[in-house]
Amino acid sequence: MITKKSNENPHKSILEKDLIEAIALSRSNPAVLEQTRRIYHDLDEEITSINALCLAGGNCCKFDLTDHRLYLTTIELTILTSSPPIAPMRIYQQRCPYQIGPRCSAYPVRPIGCRTFYCRSNWIRQTQQLYEKYHRKIRSLHYLLGIPYFYLELSKWPIDVFCNE
Ligand code: SF4
Repeated sequence: MITKKSNENPHKSILEKDLIEAIALSRSNPAVLEQTRRIYHDLDEEITSINALCLAGGNCCKFDLTDHRLYLTTIELTILTSSPPIAPMRIYQQRCPYQIGPRCSAYPVRPIGCRTFYCRSNWIRQTQQLYEKYHRKIRSLHYLLGIPYFYLELSKWPIDVFCNE
């Protein structure tokens, strides 16, 4: 049988295709951005109310040095990639592709893990509780809006999803 030539890469795994499709669906729904913004806003207010303070100058974003891993959901990745990464390939070196020196170039759209990570013991218990509370909210949003829920470490998402066209 003769079929039309496909531009699809036959080596892409089913899961990779599922992830790419989930992100595309999420990007096409304006309610994702609107409702996630509200959730992030509420989270930021709660973080402000506990006076959590970061003095580490972005060290936690150097995953290879600190042995940190950033996990994020389909919707969080959709929002994060609304800001183009500075250097996408850094993902494979366990560095965040959004970090410029000590700064985050995606600060307004960074995921919950970044908003709630404070390494000083004063705030760890509270910020972990906030992480769990807001992760549940984001997870529910997937079901509410019909977006497939995936929850993966940053480097496990296909590189294609960081090239937001
Ligand atoms: S998105 Fe921003 S805050 Fe989060 S790890 Fe990357 S540079 Fe750090």
